[in-house]
Amino acid sequence: MRLVLLGPPGAGKGTLAALLKEGLGLVHISTGDMLREEMKKETATGREVKKFIEKGELVPDEFVIRLIEKKLTSDKRVGHGYMLDGFPRTRKQAEDLDRILGQIRQPLDYALYMESTLPVIIQRLGGRRVCRNCGTLYHIRNKPPKKEKVCDLCGAEVYQRADDNEATIRTRMDVYLKNTRSVIDYYNAQGKLKKLDGDKDSEEVQAVLMQIFHEDHKFNKH
Ligand code: ADP
Ligand code: ADP
Ligand code: ZN
Repeated sequence: MRLVLLGPPGAGKGTLAALLKEGLGLVHISTGDMLREEMKKETATGREVKKFIEKGELVPDEFVIRLIEKKLTSDKRVGHGYMLDGFPRTRKQAEDLDRILGQIRQPLDYALYMESTLPVIIQRLGGRRVCRNCGTLYHIRNKPPKKEKVCDLCGAEVYQRADDNEATIRTRMDVYLKNTRSVIDYYNAQGKLKKLDGDKDSEEVQAVLMQIFHEDHKFNKH
């Protein structure tokens, strides 16, 4: 199964992806994680994208498209299915993704649109914490680690992303609202869009999704 996860920052895309990774064995591909990795390694790309990420603006399309193209055409693990999280974020990215997938004859199955309301998003992003080592997501109130600032799974430090501050969250929301409609419309026109209620518990969202997959017999085809 090949999926894209759409929705505002904080809608729960990464959290749902972690559940689906476990449940369905899909590879989780997050452009945000890939870009942060480039920054950590201080690659040429990492140095170029840093200023955009720190401000909460979108990184220019060519950087993310290059990363995604490389991943989808050279990583063998993606052959069993994957979820793209945080990509595409612009119409150009959506079109380029279809071009790449057309070349390797692997069309997408669904674009999952996680809708979430502003107060929920602000609460979630303000309290989000991430494991520096394994990327497990936490929340200071909704899902705190057992021991403060320590990952339950690997024992590494749990930290707050630099862009999860109030001013940058506001910019990211504006950027999202400006670009999202064209991406949603793009997948709606292809008949691939499925709307999910991101304000609900992640387990509930996952259950609704499993129902959709079963009704469409998607498990049998892949
Ligand atoms: P969130 O999970 O809060 O939505 P991400 O980790 O997906 O945040 O993205 C963090 C930042 O990385 C974005 O604010 C943006 O600067 C950059 N980024 C990630 N994915 C893309 C993309 N597809 N196009 C452009 N910029 C991106
Ligand atoms: P996104 O990838 O869409 O930016 P995340 O999955 O990183 O969103 O979730 C943002 C924050 O909200 C994290 O701290 C996560 O633990 C928490 N969270 C995610 N989904 C839910 C949910 N359904 N209910 C409560 N908290 C959630
Ligand atoms: Zn960890």
